[in-house]
Amino acid sequence: YAPLVRRIEAEATVIGDQVLKIDHFLNHRIEPRFITEMGGELARRLAQFEPSVVLTAEASGIAPGLVVAQALDIPLVYAKKYAPQVESPAIARVIPSPTKGGETKLVLSQRYIVPSDRVVIVDDFLSNGRTAVALIEMAREAGAQVLCASFIVEKRFQQGHAAIEALGVPLATLAQVEALENGRALLTQPAD
Ligand code: 5GP
Repeated sequence: YAPLVRRIEAEATVIGDQVLKIDHFLNHRIEPRFITEMGGELARRLAQFEPSVVLTAEASGIAPGLVVAQALDIPLVYAKKYAPQVESPAIARVIPSPTKGGETKLVLSQRYIVPSDRVVIVDDFLSNGRTAVALIEMAREAGAQVLCASFIVEKRFQQGHAAIEALGVPLATLAQVEALENGRALLTQPAD
């Protein structure tokens, strides 16, 4: 998605060779018009799957998840963090937190993902894929089908893409980062 690729190349902050920061329009400050445009673009790629619900994880997935769900006119469900009080029965996974360190528990109420659901996953970043894999596993444990996993930014030099493909789930991403080198992000323009 060229507008995002251009902004990452021009504006992103690169931390070491692992972390890409686009806090000023996605992860700390949010630009409503731009995130709505990105959500619309992801929704166009997801519509073919005829999803019934978008599934993401609290907190950074909620903004992108909401704009995609709005464009598709379907509900958004987000897995909650930090052992919240959710109505049972619920499904849980413990995952490492890649940007903050430590571990996070993700909890999903079975009231909100049901066996008839056609689920698409949406998140801001795909890194090692632990978040997305946990979401796919929880949706499947709830009996639902997972049709696609989609991301605003995919870091191709980490393990997430292969981990999701190994579960038989196709991917859709708006920007693919091949490497972070010398303070710069090297992108592959996705072939649209
Ligand atoms: P994963 O579970 O795929 O390893 O990591 C996914 C989560 O970690 C994303 O939802 C995102 O919040 C965070 N994350 C991972 N890598 C980055 C990064 O390079 N930049 C930012 N801003 N967040 C990241």
